[in-house]
Amino acid sequence: MARNQTQFQKGLSLTQLLSKYGTKEQCHHALYKWRWPDGFVCPHCGHTHCCEISTRQLYQCSSCHHQTSVISGTIFAATKLPLRTWFLGIYLVTQPKNGISALELMRQLGITYNAVWRMKHKLMQVMKERDDSKPLAGNIQLDDAYWGGERQGGKRGRGAPGKSPFIAAVATNEQGHPTAMRLTRINGFRKETIAQWAQKHLDATCVVVSDGLNCFPGVKAAGCVHEAIVTGGGPSSVNLEAFTWINTMIGNVKNSIHGSYHAINERHLPRYLAEFCYRFNRRYKLEDMIPRLGYVAVRTPPMPNRLLKLAEVWG
Ligand SMILES: [Zn+2]
Repeated sequence: MARNQTQFQKGLSLTQLLSKYGTKEQCHHALYKWRWPDGFVCPHCGHTHCCEISTRQLYQCSSCHHQTSVISGTIFAATKLPLRTWFLGIYLVTQPKNGISALELMRQLGITYNAVWRMKHKLMQVMKERDDSKPLAGNIQLDDAYWGGERQGGKRGRGAPGKSPFIAAVATNEQGHPTAMRLTRINGFRKETIAQWAQKHLDATCVVVSDGLNCFPGVKAAGCVHEAIVTGGGPSSVNLEAFTWINTMIGNVKNSIHGSYHAINERHLPRYLAEFCYRFNRRYKLEDMIPRLGYVAVRTPPMPNRLLKLAEVWG
């Protein structure tokens, strides 16, 4: 096939979105199915019978009388936005390849910038937690990468001041095609940091290729096989086949974030990186984005404003 199958997939049209999730009732029903696929379960005691207080869309447990709703205890908790607005937001955030800025989202949804910012960051948090819970497997290309700094005339390269370091990892299959990627903000490239990161983010069966930076053998702490290819730096090293994908992906994520957001608050870099990875990792299934993200969102705990605005710790 000459056409790129990822780019030419149909995805979910706006018309389909509105016919599936265009009303409050449809959104409520969808959240209910994602939260309780096998029927109601009391989040307090686990009992499976409830009576519905339909005027307030609350469910009262028949055993412990705890009252709950489809959104309480989830990332949607305490929202003042209509559920339809959330669904439209999820659509607009997940469908375009390069994401959508909070400003653009504000225009499209017709809500305040603050409300849109909170929605966007909550959705990005869901994406981050989801991907962070799934270790990468297969052959891994690993590299050190840096966000920011370039435009202030600072020195280039490793460890330059003003740059935010992040680990870049791409998993490839036997044909050498990328299957998944993970970008994780860290405080610096030390062996212990890489070891901790690998224990969380890599399957023990991974075969990891990196350059000769002396922190990378840290991946062995996770049981992985590590191979260092000493490139000696310089432009020719970029062309090494072993690092083709990792170099491409680092370039893509930087272009994507620069292009869509112009400037981002570096405190929140981990979420922006996670958002890019989440869409990349599911790029063949654009149509399923809404149910998949929705399913995870009702399993993601609430994120109070205070936490949303804090600088994120790596991990
Ligand atoms: Zn109960």
